[in-house]
Amino acid sequence: MKLNTRFFLLMTCIFLLFALLSWLSFSQMVDEINQQWASQFAERQVLFDKHRTLSPLIREIRMARQMAAEPALIEMALHEDNPEVVRRATEVMESYRFNFRDHSYFAAFAHSGNYYFNDAAGQFSGKQFRYTLSPTVKSDYWFYATLKDGAEYQVNLDPDLHLGVVKVWINVLLKKGNNVLGVIGTGMDLTDFLKESVDIEQPGIHNLFVDKSMAIQLSSDPKLIDYASISKTVGERTKIDVLLKNPADVERLRQAARRIEKNQGENVTTMWVNFMGGSHLLAIAYLPEIGWYDLTLMDEKSLTVLNGYTWLPFVVGALFLLALLVVGYFLHRWILKPIHKLQSATEEIQHGNYDIEPPQVGNGEIAALSNSFGKMVQFVQHTKQDLERKVIERTEDLHRLTEIDPLTGLLNRRGMMDRFDKEIARQARQNGKLGLLLLDLDLFKQVNDIHGHAAGDLALCATANVLHLTKRSYDHAGRWGGEEFLLLLPECSEKDLLAIAERIREAVQSLCIETGGQTVSFTVSIGAYHANSPQTLDAMLHQVDKALYEAKDAGRNCVRLAEH
Ligand code: GH3
Ligand code: MG
Ligand code: MG
Repeated sequence: MKLNTRFFLLMTCIFLLFALLSWLSFSQMVDEINQQWASQFAERQVLFDKHRTLSPLIREIRMARQMAAEPALIEMALHEDNPEVVRRATEVMESYRFNFRDHSYFAAFAHSGNYYFNDAAGQFSGKQFRYTLSPTVKSDYWFYATLKDGAEYQVNLDPDLHLGVVKVWINVLLKKGNNVLGVIGTGMDLTDFLKESVDIEQPGIHNLFVDKSMAIQLSSDPKLIDYASISKTVGERTKIDVLLKNPADVERLRQAARRIEKNQGENVTTMWVNFMGGSHLLAIAYLPEIGWYDLTLMDEKSLTVLNGYTWLPFVVGALFLLALLVVGYFLHRWILKPIHKLQSATEEIQHGNYDIEPPQVGNGEIAALSNSFGKMVQFVQHTKQDLERKVIERTEDLHRLTEIDPLTGLLNRRGMMDRFDKEIARQARQNGKLGLLLLDLDLFKQVNDIHGHAAGDLALCATANVLHLTKRSYDHAGRWGGEEFLLLLPECSEKDLLAIAERIREAVQSLCIETGGQTVSFTVSIGAYHANSPQTLDAMLHQVDKALYEAKDAGRNCVRLAEH
């Protein structure tokens, strides 16, 4: 696989891995932030709701309890038939009326079942006795249930049949010692109370209050409120189940409620529940003063603070991709491109083109590699030239050796033939003259016989030396056969030819070879031929051979010129 492709795949893998990891960590981080923030927000919200709702109720309860402690009212409960006692008690109750939030009060006595009431308008002033409660009338169950329950005070939501409104009733037991004498208290208009203490304007947030049986006591939706819970069995009450459809959620809520109740309502707890078809964070706070729980439900969507930042991982991903592209660009420019150039140069050299200029590419290590490559190319180039030169030299040497006679160092027959060809061709071109001398040592057999073959060889070498010294620089001397020599003399006059031949003959004659304590002397017969015009080699050899014969016939040790 090419480096380019590898780097591309590597970078793609790195990018995908980075994208996946950053997306996962971002999602996890967002989740954690949202969870923490949501929990804190929900806890603050539920505490806020709790105190907002609780403060007016507590105020009313305190007031009602104060009224229940009034001796005049206890007196009235015991002596209701005494008009003076009733008058005094009524006076006391009227003095409390304006202290209550709704400027109304009520008092109901266990002994008689009589119910006294006056409202903000004071429309029952002087006729506070309204009617007599009955244990058989359903709308009066609250009274008997409150007496029976024995709790010091209670908050009860119940419609006021006479006024046609629903009220939040503060019911406080009127007691003398352990003796329960009746119930006194006040009622607040539910609609106003809800508006001021329960309703929440913020979208996605619901606030409601439940009692210990999880019956809904306060809700921004009045239809959900379980009115007069105290006068119903637990089974008859409208409970939180109507809102939380998942029984597991209700069960967890009950457990959480028990837990925080044990802690005296000090802490707040949160949990995720399914509410109105979506996930909601439910915060629970306990209101020990009235034995209720404040439930604040917050839509998950309204709690995700980082919802608007989903673009963040994409921007990070895009920046990373950009960074990878920049890295890829410089990788290509600094490494891959120079390597590609070097590779192209290598291919050229592979194909035998050593004349290319090795490219100088890259920086740093790549430049060093490029330099080394250039030096290597130069070295290979020089080595190749050196080798080629040596091959030529060796070939020439070999060629020369094939033309040289190993004993005498003169040209051999083959060498002489080559020179003949050249000189004949030149003679033909320039219309020159050509001289030819054929030498044969006289009675050489005897030399060998008498002095030995080695002495004969020395004689041959000495003769060759004579030829070498006597010939002109451009003449060619060769060993033509055993003890026969041939001298080719270009551009030579007949006179010069004969003079040279004579000089050779004399030089050979005067040779004295010392070998084995003996002196060897010998002579040579020379046939000469002078060609004025171009002739064939055979024709010239024939002529010179004939002249040599004549020299031999003439008694040897002489020169004879072949006649035309
Ligand atoms: P002539 O030419 O005068 O008629 O007499 P010759 O004795 O020279 O006769 P011929 O040319 O027939 O003999 C040639 C002799 O040269 C024969 C051989 O022993 C000798 N000879 C040829 N080649 C060599 C060589 O390489 N070394 C030696 N030592 N002798 C050689
Ligand atoms: Mg011979
Ligand atoms: Mg001979």
